[in-house]
Amino acid sequence: MEEVKKPARIGVVLSSGGGRGVYAHTGFLLALRQLGIEVSAIAGCSAGALVGGIAASGADLQQWSQVIASVRTREYWTPDPWLQFVWRLAVNKGRGYTGLSDTAAAIAFCRRNLAVQTFEECRVPFYSLAMDLGRGAKVLFAAGELAPRMMASAAMPLLYRPVEIAGSLYTDGAVIELAPTEAICCKHNLDALIVHHTSVHREGGEGMAWAVRQPWSLIEILNLLLYRHRPWYLSDQPLAFQRCPHGCGTPLIVLECDLPELVWPLNSGGPRVQAAALSQSLASLQPYAGILMSDPHRLPLPRVSAGQAATPAARCNTAPEPEDGEHYPE
Ligand SMILES: [Zn+2]
Repeated sequence: MEEVKKPARIGVVLSSGGGRGVYAHTGFLLALRQLGIEVSAIAGCSAGALVGGIAASGADLQQWSQVIASVRTREYWTPDPWLQFVWRLAVNKGRGYTGLSDTAAAIAFCRRNLAVQTFEECRVPFYSLAMDLGRGAKVLFAAGELAPRMMASAAMPLLYRPVEIAGSLYTDGAVIELAPTEAICCKHNLDALIVHHTSVHREGGEGMAWAVRQPWSLIEILNLLLYRHRPWYLSDQPLAFQRCPHGCGTPLIVLECDLPELVWPLNSGGPRVQAAALSQSLASLQPYAGILMSDPHRLPLPRVSAGQAATPAARCNTAPEPEDGEHYPE
């Protein structure tokens, strides 16, 4: 009898990328669904943690895309009234003032749109990257209530106050890393990984000149700071093939769509970003979808370097273990 081959197990890593990333990641995940590519694990940072959590919870992505198409600013952005702002800065000299907006509304927005409320109940394993301000360390959340841990990953410094969880304060994971590939790679028996990268990296004086010409230049300067690191997997191509550098050599597809700009407060123009990400992801992945699902090692991958395993049997599929400078809080 002929052996029926199981479809490849595919993990997805969703990068940081601000409001634009929320729409872009949604478009990308809808493209995977159209191509029949099942996702077996998700890791995300910032915008990627928001959309990743929604998807991992099992929420309907089509319904989610309708929600974000008509989201009102006050559902995720609730700065203090002017008088209170002035009082806190002028009279109270800014003591204890840690960001322009509270995160309660954004956390409630996440809760309303999740299909389940905890990491443990998710349909597929999910990790959200944040920075623990007290320890100055990277954190990969993998347990507990989803909504605050998704928003902790997306709480952009100065714009949002840090999110307090079990007595510790957390801020946007992009401060440390844009896309946490190692959160799921080498784990969960994955055969391949797709990284969807949506952060825009602008260098030097040109980046700064661009920032000061934009509406809300302060936010663009923050973006310059947050996205200053160029991740190892980027190649400036819409589609690139890599191998996991963390030990297992697993095939890795990197998608970097060319997306329209999105101006704060983000929601207007979002569906245009989502449609661009959807159509570009479809165009990039369609020629490889069959190989990806049946035998990802036949993808046009870079050659295996010394230290990288060549065969699936030799891969390092282990349970997630905290590495140096990284921890998994309860
Ligand atoms: Zn790996």
